[in-house]
Amino acid sequence: MGEDPASQVYVRNKKLACEYIGINSFEYLLPESTTQKELIELIEKLNNDDTVSGILCQLPVPEHINEEAVINAIDPKKDVDAFHPVNVGRIMTGNYDFVPCTPAGVMELINESGIDVSGKECVVVGRSNIVGKPMSMLLLHKNGTVTICHSKTQNLAEKTRNADILVAAVGIANFIKGDMIKPGAVVIDVGINRIAPKVLVGDVEFESAKDVAAAITPVPGGVGPMTVAMLMKNTLKAAEINKTK
Ligand code: NAD
Repeated sequence: MGEDPASQVYVRNKKLACEYIGINSFEYLLPESTTQKELIELIEKLNNDDTVSGILCQLPVPEHINEEAVINAIDPKKDVDAFHPVNVGRIMTGNYDFVPCTPAGVMELINESGIDVSGKECVVVGRSNIVGKPMSMLLLHKNGTVTICHSKTQNLAEKTRNADILVAAVGIANFIKGDMIKPGAVVIDVGINRIAPKVLVGDVEFESAKDVAAAITPVPGGVGPMTVAMLMKNTLKAAEINKTK
């Protein structure tokens, strides 16, 4: 909904990924003036359409729309972003079909790199519903010892310096400096911060961090593309689930 420039880029990338792997995608570009009732009616129409496997509403929505009401309106079986409370609850218990795409992408990077999370000190900086909280749960499911840090955390550097695996999801450009990282740590930078019209940087100051960390994800090109890939994976899963509905 509306004309958020970042959302336009994200939606374009998701559509391109669908095209690339052979998923039909349909975009409903709603004007800012659309009411919540109209938006939810559209979601319900898609919920009831058997030819539709997955639905996502690109956030943020304009201020007059209640984001929670929109998320709650999506059929949990088609909720490929995994934001519906049913899917959030299932992530807590570890019995889930869909995982929020960004934390899922981080786990895929960790697994594919052969990094064993079990018993490791994992520090997640950020506690959002979309990234920080589910990220912490996924690391816990892999037997990491997880610390969640946030805006009210005291002595943050002391905590981050303790991390074998450090995930930054803060939304502040270059926030984590090299001297906040334990030598040999794995550093995953979720942040996407636009500091100039064509310049994106992460939440980790790459230059000072890269020589301290054993492995570090770049921005752009690290977690971002993984997020889109995991959306495709969730959509395929949704197609399988809804086929047998
Ligand atoms: P958010 O604003 O919802 O949450 C930010 C979190 O950072 C909060 O929980 C807050 O407590 C914490 N925080 C803020 N200031 C802090 C401080 N001084 N010290 C410690 N913690 C602090 O953001 P979000 O949606 O979780 O996104 C975080 C970042 O990740 C943003 O840069 C966003 O653009 C990016 N992001 C990237 C992807 C991707 O695909 N790579 C997806 C989602 C979000």
